[in-house]
Amino acid sequence: MNLNRIVHALRRSLPRQCIVCKMSSVNSNICATCEQALPHLTDVCQLCALPFYSAYSPICGPCLLNPPPWQRLDSLCEYVAPVDSLIHAFKYHADFTSVTPLTRGLAARVTAHRQRWPDAMIPVPLHQWRHWRRGFNQALEITRQLHQILHIPLRTDLCRRIKNTVTQTGLEHSRRKANMRNAFVAHAECAGQHLAVVDDVLTTGATLRALCGELNAAGAATLEVWTCARVVRLGAPAGFR
Ligand SMILES: [Zn+2]
Ligand SMILES: [Zn+2]
Repeated sequence: MNLNRIVHALRRSLPRQCIVCKMSSVNSNICATCEQALPHLTDVCQLCALPFYSAYSPICGPCLLNPPPWQRLDSLCEYVAPVDSLIHAFKYHADFTSVTPLTRGLAARVTAHRQRWPDAMIPVPLHQWRHWRRGFNQALEITRQLHQILHIPLRTDLCRRIKNTVTQTGLEHSRRKANMRNAFVAHAECAGQHLAVVDDVLTTGATLRALCGELNAAGAATLEVWTCARVVRLGAPAGFR
């Protein structure tokens, strides 16, 4: 038995702690109670993942009038506590296990309505400068975790971020859109491909719109977007913003 196996066996034998409530948790980094209590987005529009229910259409009115550049959006949870803390620990403290409950849930979510699988998953690329500063791309790490569960090919060579955009946080929607203009370039190999674009959180969608616009321009056959969380602003009208 090598040292790694001994360490893993010891880890498995130790009681684990739930990353949300800090109580002991069996075989997982989140306890069953906290995992069930995550703020899952259910009864949402298939294109914008905002709360919406109609017996007649899976797509809300604003999305029917102004469809986004993808054919389906799956966001697992609303970006509120404790999801924000899980993602913060992941993004800013490189605690990759803190998002495993979310990637596991997201994998189950996209499997549930599956008719055909995408040819590949594409993590939203970071500009190399920001990648270097953070040390990792959060979207790539989430896609790696999804790949472990779903075994869909992971492609990082189909698009690049060519503009080091200023951080989107705190920018108005129109400024975000302008900020993202010409931020990405997609490879001609996207032509005819069914692709799933993966990111951690969808805020206004400006980044995903810009990237999916480029993938469509390169000839992608269909696009889905998968994110662990989505910002849902209370009081705002339904529809993609
Ligand atoms: Zn718990
Ligand atoms: Zn919608």
